[in-house]
Amino acid sequence: MLRQSTAVDVELTPRIAILGAGAAGTIAAVHLLRETAGRPFEIDLIDRRGTFGLGAAYATADPAHLLNVPAVRMGAISGHPEHFHDWASRRGVGSGEAAFLPRGLFGVYLVDLLAATEKAAPRATLRRLRDEALAVRGRSTEGSLEVELRDGGRVAYDAVLLAPGPLAGTDPVPIRDELRESGAYVEDPWVSGVLDGSRGEETVLLLGTGLTMVDVALALTADRDGPRLLAISRRGLLPRAHHRTLTRLAPFELPGADGLDAIFATVSAELRRASASGREWRDVIDSARTPTPAAWRALPLADKRRFLTEVNRYWDVHRFRTAPDVAEKIGALVDRARLQVGAGEILAVEPYRRGARVRVRRQAGDVDLIAVDRVINCTGAGTDITKSPPPLLRSLFEEGLARSDSLGLGLDVAPSGMAIAADGREDPRLHVVGALRRGVEWEAIGVTEIRDHAAAVASILTANHLPGVAPAPRTSAG
Ligand SMILES: Cc1cc2nc3c(=O)[nH]c(=O)nc-3n(C[C@H](O)[C@H](O)[C@H](O)COP(=O)(O)OP(=O)(O)OC[C@H]3O[C@@H](n4cnc5c(N)ncnc54)[C@H](O)[C@@H]3O)c2cc1C
Repeated sequence: MLRQSTAVDVELTPRIAILGAGAAGTIAAVHLLRETAGRPFEIDLIDRRGTFGLGAAYATADPAHLLNVPAVRMGAISGHPEHFHDWASRRGVGSGEAAFLPRGLFGVYLVDLLAATEKAAPRATLRRLRDEALAVRGRSTEGSLEVELRDGGRVAYDAVLLAPGPLAGTDPVPIRDELRESGAYVEDPWVSGVLDGSRGEETVLLLGTGLTMVDVALALTADRDGPRLLAISRRGLLPRAHHRTLTRLAPFELPGADGLDAIFATVSAELRRASASGREWRDVIDSARTPTPAAWRALPLADKRRFLTEVNRYWDVHRFRTAPDVAEKIGALVDRARLQVGAGEILAVEPYRRGARVRVRRQAGDVDLIAVDRVINCTGAGTDITKSPPPLLRSLFEEGLARSDSLGLGLDVAPSGMAIAADGREDPRLHVVGALRRGVEWEAIGVTEIRDHAAAVASILTANHLPGVAPAPRTSAG
């Protein structure tokens, strides 16, 4: 980047901040380093956990926690979905392209990939900072952005990439402080060590029946003598299972602008076509992933709302499937009645004796009272960015640097990855990768999308800040 001095143009090293170093921030750093083409570049990768590359999903050391995508589709490099599989094979840990490998191994891969990419870009400087970004300031539409850190630092950057992951989950019903303090209610099962106390209990109730519940159930039943589990969600639907073979991808157009009913008709026709040619529903669901972002952007707002209220819970269990081994373990737990899955609406969670009592309205309308030793909230990420956003996001709204998407699931983001400011303009200084794009693109949180979004943002940032660097050729993801 050129900055004007009184006498000459002085070339200064561009400085970029990446806020959040889970998979999204780390993969973005990898793509940025690859695109610097041997030119000086400064990247500050800032994460409050201080685990650079792991984030929430890949920090687990539990070997029962498997990826829910086959190895050959989990590569972190855009255009190279096989990259992770090849990395694992070189280390003798892969067992075929369709293998569902441990999530912790994927974390090791990301850490390794970042270190190797850093080494291959000796003129770029990557700093890993353990800190929390509390705010991004910069009221004018030009000039640098200032990041305020919890340790008191304020640092100016040419551009900022937001990758803070999904919104924090919320309690499904109000919870009294005494219940929280007693430990009988666990609000966030991802906090390190928080499940340890539950292993010695007799009965644990899991709120939610999706992938978070599956993870928690596996963790609590690793020992023969652990607790008996009850899992409850409105419909009591469990995620479907993957096959042991790869789905056959054949992307098709989704007519988003024509509305949700037109999309249903297209997907139904694809399902019939697939069935007639010996393919199956999993092939269609996975193939729908590629056209979804464009279709979702074009879908009328009322239809998006209808999808969320009427369809999403059925969509989720087909789209976010468990690895075959995980599905077998969960099936065995259900067969042995170690895990009981039910449908109902949670009305209240109250302190009761040394545990908790849960009030559940069943589908027939009657209300059950269930006494348990502990309740664990497995309902997943938050879905309303306007309800008490974290300080970082609040500052973006206050500064007018960003606005929420029309559903309030995340931020309004252009297809380029640039945040859209309060006045509707794309801001080339502020970019977004990961879950905050869910509201505008729907498919945004998996590594498949993250790697392409990271590559696109890296390409824009280097083109903007390193004059003369040609954008790297881009290939589509598998
Ligand atoms: C249990 C689980 C399993 C999954 N399995 C798969 C899978 O098999 N395949 C797949 O493709 N996807 C999977 N996903 C989807 C997953 O969301 C992504 O693959 C990936 O983990 C998302 O990474 P992220 O960086 O966006 O978010 P996160 O992993 O949440 O990372 C965000 C990071 O930002 C940091 N942070 C947040 N705010 C700040 C701040 N203000 N300042 C500094 N740091 C901050 C956090 O500490 C965190 O480390 C899974 C998700 C979960 C939860």
